[in-house]
Amino acid sequence: MAKLALNSPELKSIEQGVKNRFKWSWLLETVQVEGNTFSLNCFSKIREPGKAICNICNHPINYGTSGKIALRKHMMHPKHVKLWKMQQQNMHIEIARADNIIVAAPHNNSAQPRSIPPLCNRVAQDQALILGFIAENSLPLSVTSGIIKLAQELAKDPKALAELSMDRTSASYKLTHGVKKTILDEVLEEIRSVPFSLNVDEATSKTNKRVLGVLVSYWSEKHERMVVQHLAALELISVTAESLFSALDGLFERMNLPWDNLVSILMDSCAVMRGSKNGLEKKIRDRRAPHLLDIDGDSCHHLHNASQPRSLLAGPYLGFNNPAPLPPHFLIQPHHPPNPSTRH
Ligand SMILES: [Zn+2]
Repeated sequence: MAKLALNSPELKSIEQGVKNRFKWSWLLETVQVEGNTFSLNCFSKIREPGKAICNICNHPINYGTSGKIALRKHMMHPKHVKLWKMQQQNMHIEIARADNIIVAAPHNNSAQPRSIPPLCNRVAQDQALILGFIAENSLPLSVTSGIIKLAQELAKDPKALAELSMDRTSASYKLTHGVKKTILDEVLEEIRSVPFSLNVDEATSKTNKRVLGVLVSYWSEKHERMVVQHLAALELISVTAESLFSALDGLFERMNLPWDNLVSILMDSCAVMRGSKNGLEKKIRDRRAPHLLDIDGDSCHHLHNASQPRSLLAGPYLGFNNPAPLPPHFLIQPHHPPNPSTRH
């Protein structure tokens, strides 16, 4: 249905013989419906005599008999009102030809037209926000992808996200008595009934305390995968095979863990840990778990212990007469090279 251009002089010839002829002035009138003011300019005159079309619902109107009353009547039709409201509440999506970017165009009648930047700009803005947060808080860059996943997860529930708040004190409390307890309870419940291995190592904490870190690994029936979890961090006063044994023995007792379920203990190859006569592993095997598998020391320590002598040997061939000590990030496990008396 070809529409006539506004104020077209062709109107006169098209409307010949029509009882109530179309007048362009009709389009300036308004109608009150349900408290809203509707303008009749939503109609277009088409080239058929006695007929116009509603641009909102695409409905042809026959005004030849009753004149503009037919147009006003259509304005009050529930279907027309519903479509008009829908158009008011939604934004038009337009594709800009220059860059194929989809943008929301402001609606003709909307009181406050909204302009949303292109998606690529919004993504860049989000990236800048995340990087700014990482830089301001001196976080490692390795957490970047984790923060993005976290944000995406949180955004799934905007209502809860809007209500979310947590200060430092409550974060500490919830971490210790909520998250930590829940995870530990779940781990303990599982390893009391399935075989598990431990990975223990002694280190110095940020507050210069000697701490024995204990990791547990086991097959989880619940999650159907191997689980490696932090089990405990035991503070030590002195580091001897006896004190390490007491600390572990006390941990098993407190956590009500059966020694029978312990399959192996992975540890570094120093004499205190794996010495064949008085090492921690020997004590555990003799006193608590005779079935313990005889496994080697962990590969991280092997690599570290091997790397320093190698670098000393290779130094002269690489042109270094006085090879520099290993950079600090290699020295994460400040233990001695393997003692010949230890088992391998
Ligand atoms: Zn309509």
